[in-house]
Parts: sequence; C-alpha cells; structure tokens
Amino acid sequence: MSEDKPLCDLCARTARYHFAATDPAGDPLGATRCARHAIFYQPVRRSAQRIAAVVGTVLFGINQADVVFAGRLTPLVVVKSVLTYVVPFSVSTYSALRINRLRNGGRAE
Ligand SMILES: [Zn+2]
Repeated sequence: MSEDKPLCDLCARTARYHFAATDPAGDPLGATRCARHAIFYQPVRRSAQRIAAVVGTVLFGINQADVVFAGRLTPLVVVKSVLTYVVPFSVSTYSALRINRLRNGGRAE
C-alpha cells in the first residue's frame, strides 16, 4: 500500500534510503532520505571525501606523481589526476547508498 511507504525527512518524495543515527545530538531514529537528498547527506559525503583524499592521494602517487614532478603536466594528466580522486569518492558514495537502501517493506537491506 502506498501509505506505508516511508517518506524523505526533507521532502515529500518516497524515501529510498535510511541511515542509522551516528550523531548523539541528532535524531535517534537516524535519517530517511529520497535518492536526491541521500546523495548529498552530509555523513555520506564527508566519509566519501575522506576516503577520496586518502585513496586518491595513494593512487595519484602511484600513477601520476612521477609525470607531474618531472614537469610534464599536460591536460590529459590533469584529467587523469582529477579522476584519480573522483573514482574513490564515487565508489564510496555508491557503497554507502547501496548498504543503506530500503527494501519494499521500508527496512534497510
Ligand atoms: Zn528528499
């Protein structure tokens, strides 16, 4: 039944994700979000930024650092360097959303 569907805490859309409470000062029930608001949910974004900073820097060191420090910086190297950080950010965000996705009954998978 449609009235049983959980709704996003921020808008009237059907919620697709539920995040457990992580902030003791926040809502003890956690947060329920639609897809649009889940992507920009601050704990997910913050975690993805930290992972991208660590993993991206390691991958940059392995794959691009020698080229950059040798002074052979080209537009292609710049694009590759940016993607080196974007990929772990995207994977982290996707994983967090996948883990916290709601099933039909409104429970997280
Ligand atoms: Zn929403």
